[in-house]
Amino acid sequence: MSERITGHTELIGLFATPIRHSISPQMHNESFARLGLDYAYLAFEVGKEELPAAIQSIKTLGMRGANLSMPNKQLACQYMDHLSPAAKMAGAINTIVNDDGVLTGHITDGTGFMSSLEMNGISIIGKQMTILGAGGAATAILIQAVLDGVGKISVFNAKDAFFATAADKIASIKAETGCDIQLHDLADEDLLRQEIAASAILVNATGVGMKPLEGQSLITDASLLRSDLVVADVIYTPSETALLKLAKAQGCQTLNGLGMLIGQGAAAFKLWTGKEMPVAEIKELLF
Ligand code: NAD
Repeated sequence: MSERITGHTELIGLFATPIRHSISPQMHNESFARLGLDYAYLAFEVGKEELPAAIQSIKTLGMRGANLSMPNKQLACQYMDHLSPAAKMAGAINTIVNDDGVLTGHITDGTGFMSSLEMNGISIIGKQMTILGAGGAATAILIQAVLDGVGKISVFNAKDAFFATAADKIASIKAETGCDIQLHDLADEDLLRQEIAASAILVNATGVGMKPLEGQSLITDASLLRSDLVVADVIYTPSETALLKLAKAQGCQTLNGLGMLIGQGAAAFKLWTGKEMPVAEIKELLF
């Protein structure tokens, strides 16, 4: 690092809290070093109160940009000069790019998910997708899926606080894109069976399957799954959730959330540097 940092090194921040556990600093700094790029990536404990000043500092210090995570992804939108089409639809950003004092907000979680499918030789363009969950991760995935040309999306969510918000958001995405997206109650088991049967992929985009809900799955009836169904989970700790175990036993191709995590980082890396992250090397080194 001491050989790498110079007077010209440009800073990229990660604004979130809690954030000290994040692997993003290693992922990006290792990639900069391997490609000989003069950037440094640092994590900062930034909550909602500190966020306006932190974003102003991107301009003040001439930083190249930042990543955002909990609890800042939605709040940060109002401080951007521009939003990417996906970020505008999602009402959330995880990446800021500073071009000579002009800040553009992007959301790369959905891009990360779609690129992880591609890396595994899976194409769902023109096909149907069923998503469990309608929170931040699910919204980012479904927006990118719509933009990439997925044919139909069925979203199943519990009738919790997320449901009403999701209904409004899905209605506006549908109006803007014309894509066939439906929101259903997760408790409607018959409809869930019917939609999974018509889908090429089933995605768990909830935290059910990781701590404190590790060992649990929103799908427990193996007869809902068939061997030509792809089953993906956004969770990567544990690397195999109860859902993925059940799916694997049914002969399904399964994917955990690691590809999405690396994919969202690689997409942000490209926005800042214009270069491809050395994904295979990073995967081998860090995971
Ligand atoms: P969120 O709080 O925005 O949404 C949570 C979702 O989970 C909602 O749809 C909610 O209804 C549902 N949910 C929660 N508890 C439930 C339960 N007991 N039963 C049924 N549904 C339940 O969270 P988020 O940001 O969308 O994150 C969801 C998951 O995605 C987390 O596990 C997070 O770690 C993961 N994630 C992974 C990546 C990645 O790169 N792999 C990126 C973002 C998020």
